[in-house]
Amino acid sequence: MPKITGMDDPSRAALPAYPAPALYIDGRRIEATDDGDTPVFDPSSGAVIARLPVAGPAELEAAAAAAARGFEAWRRVLPLERQRVIERATALLRERAPAIAAVLTCEQGKPLAEAEREVRLSADIIDFLAEEGKRLASRGVPPRTPGVASQTVQRVPVGPAAAFTPWNFPVNLPARKIGGALAAGCSVVLKPDERTPASALALVQCFADAGLPAGVLNLVAGRPAQISQALIADARIAKVSFTGSVEVGRQLGALAAAQGKRYTSELGGHAPVVVCADADAVAVATLAVAAKYRNAGQVCASPIRFLVHRSRYAAFRDAFVAGAQALRVGPGLEPGVQMGPLIAPHRLEAMQGFVDDARSHGARVACGGQRLDRPGWFYAPTVLEDVPLAARVQREEPFGPIAVLDAFDDLDEAIARANALPYGLAAYGFTHDLRAAHRLADGLQAGMVGINHFGVSQPETPFGGVKASGIGHESGLEGLLGYTEVKFVSIAT
Ligand code: NAD
Repeated sequence: MPKITGMDDPSRAALPAYPAPALYIDGRRIEATDDGDTPVFDPSSGAVIARLPVAGPAELEAAAAAAARGFEAWRRVLPLERQRVIERATALLRERAPAIAAVLTCEQGKPLAEAEREVRLSADIIDFLAEEGKRLASRGVPPRTPGVASQTVQRVPVGPAAAFTPWNFPVNLPARKIGGALAAGCSVVLKPDERTPASALALVQCFADAGLPAGVLNLVAGRPAQISQALIADARIAKVSFTGSVEVGRQLGALAAAQGKRYTSELGGHAPVVVCADADAVAVATLAVAAKYRNAGQVCASPIRFLVHRSRYAAFRDAFVAGAQALRVGPGLEPGVQMGPLIAPHRLEAMQGFVDDARSHGARVACGGQRLDRPGWFYAPTVLEDVPLAARVQREEPFGPIAVLDAFDDLDEAIARANALPYGLAAYGFTHDLRAAHRLADGLQAGMVGINHFGVSQPETPFGGVKASGIGHESGLEGLLGYTEVKFVSIAT
């Protein structure tokens, strides 16, 4: 069993104060509305730690109106000056990183050190986008018609954006959307997840304190379907960006398409990992355990299906299971904890459903396979073996601490297995054979392929999926271009 920490620990009494969540519209905090509120939980204990005001029609109207006014002001600000304001915000974000990380851990559960890395990486993402914003150059095209003096292809901001983000990276995912939008000259209405509102608000507060004009960045939350319907239908919103499940992503895509609006989606995945015969199975297993159980597996690019060459399977399996069992599981605020709780009780049920279904198909549970007997929403790091392809976990995203191990004999067979699902977000391969590395890089159907490491999410590089895993990109230059429109200007004298 994994080591459990935090039972009856007196340091739990010294939790940092969790700030009162609020909405933020047109430069003002809104701490109560006519539409009531919704509870925010500490997933490490299951206790209610705050109540979040629910945005109703009045707040959604105010947010769209503010974003429209904010856009008119912000798009006229020179890119150099925009970058200066954004840079002040990221300086504040770095300065406040320890405090924001503690808030993030309180509401989301991940280990504190992971939370602080997320906050600091968010600052890097925003900075990169703001820097690139200064380089969005127009392109001149020689005219073919006498009397036409100039033809330019410009990149202009697309307009006010509605951004919907989930709970698994409550600062990083808003940072990607806000960073791209503000760098391009767009305004934003952000709807963070209702389970993790305070860390997103802390990010927004950095921009407010850095001097971002009122209305350019707004935050609403409450009832997700009501908010997405109202904002996507609102004529003032020009662009919609969503991160979350395939199912909800398709719903919002349909709403956006019905309005003819630009849409970017970053959806789920079911990442395969192909470990070739020449790879150092034990070293790869060590890396893989860290990647798999980061954020309790609640990561869209989390490795799930491990396909290991039969000659290395036993070595890989033994090292992986030993690594999973050695993880320290507990409340994220405790020193030394490596894996926190799941976000909500229904996710425990979802994990148990995957494990029970796999068992009923004849799979073997090598470790874990049950929730931990303690307060909070903890599920044991789990490894499944001999899982028939008919089991749900072989095709549905578990989005939790479950790894599925399997052996293969032939690389083409492994690549075909890896590609067999409708998902195509991230895929990984481990080999030092140059030809095998190229076969994997060419053959794996995914928006991001990592060979010999799991680091496919960087501030400077595009993050996005193919197939059912999404449309468009975030981060990197591509993440900025998603908030721009091409405008052709031809001037005759
Ligand atoms: P969920 O479907 O309840 O929620 C996922 C996210 O979508 C939440 O942020 C929620 O607020 C939002 N949402 C739901 N309905 C919406 C609507 N009509 N309009 C706007 N936003 C809406 O799922 P969950 O139980 O919280 O998470 C589990 C599933 O979500 C997993 O299967 C996983 O695939 C997916 N997920 C993916 C990511 C990702 O990074 N790609 C992140 C979180 C969750």
